[in-house]
Amino acid sequence: MKRTVSNDHHTKIFDKLNNLYKEENSKGFALHMIRAYLPLHKTIKVFKSKKRCICSLCKNELFSVSQVIELSNLNEFNEDFVSFISNEQSNGNDLYDNVPVVKFNKGRELALTGENTTTYICPSCAKTFFDWSVSKMLQGDKKIENILNKCSVDDQHDFLTMFLENERNHKLKSNAEAMKNRITRPQKIVTTFGDLKVLQDLKNKMITN
Ligand SMILES: [Zn+2]
Repeated sequence: MKRTVSNDHHTKIFDKLNNLYKEENSKGFALHMIRAYLPLHKTIKVFKSKKRCICSLCKNELFSVSQVIELSNLNEFNEDFVSFISNEQSNGNDLYDNVPVVKFNKGRELALTGENTTTYICPSCAKTFFDWSVSKMLQGDKKIENILNKCSVDDQHDFLTMFLENERNHKLKSNAEAMKNRITRPQKIVTTFGDLKVLQDLKNKMITN
C-alpha cells in the first residue's frame, strides 16, 4: 500500500508555508526553498551528513542513507528485515510503520536535500511543499511564477501533470490545464543523413567505397 501524507500533516505544513510567505522576514526563505527543491529532480536523498538532519518545515529529525547502511550491519535489524519480507500478510496502513528501516529509525523519515541549500526536508513535507508552490503559481503569484518559469518546458510539463494527478480544487485544476496547454514541449530533432546534402554525399561516397 502506498503511503500517503496524512491530511493533518499536509494541512499543518500548508498553513505554515502560507504564514512564512506572508511575513516579510521569512518570505525569502520560502523562495529559497522553491529554487532549491523545484523541479523535483533537484530533491535528492542525503547520503551522509555531519550534522543532524532536521526537516526545515516540520522540524522532525530525519535519517540519512548511511545510517540505513549502518543498520544493515545489526543482526537484530537483519532478523527483523527477513521476518518482514517473508511475511506475506500486511494489515493496511500499519505496513509503512512496520517497515524495519522506519521502525529502527523510530518513525523518522529519510532526509532529502536540494540544490544550493544547506536545508533538509522530509518526504512528507516535500510533497506538501510541491503542492503549495505550484498552487501559489497557479493563483498568479508573480515571484513564484518567475522562478518556476525558468524551469525547462519538459520540467514544467511534468510538474503540472503531477499536480493535476493529485489536486482536487476545480479552479486550480483548470488553471493547471490551461497552463499546460500553453506550454508546448519542444520536438526532439532527429538528425539523419538526409538533413544535409553534404552528409548525404559523404554517405554515398562511403557506400560506394
Ligand atoms: Zn518535514
